Amino acid sequence: MLGMKIDCPCCGGEIDARHTEGLSTTLRRMYFVCEDCGYRTPAGFEILHSLSASSRSRAGVSLEVKPSLMLRGPVNARTTLARENRP
Ligand SMILES: [Zn+2]
Repeated sequence: MLGMKIDCPCCGGEIDARHTEGLSTTLRRMYFVCEDCGYRTPAGFEILHSLSASSRSRAGVSLEVKPSLMLRGPVNARTTLARENRP
């Protein structure tokens, strides 16, 4: 999970995840640091639901399958950005 970058909410620069902490099987807390302005913040990363069912279910983990008509093929940050920037 380290290597994830998001926009700094303060200066608009790029901030890096420096540390992550597992809170549950579907929720992580990530700690971001901005090299440009020194801002530091925790952020949450949560698995919300499934786009397709796993072939290897895990005891105690139940994630509703909600297939998306808009997202076909691999989903990544580039796919999401391309869709967000469409008029
Ligand atoms: Zn910043």
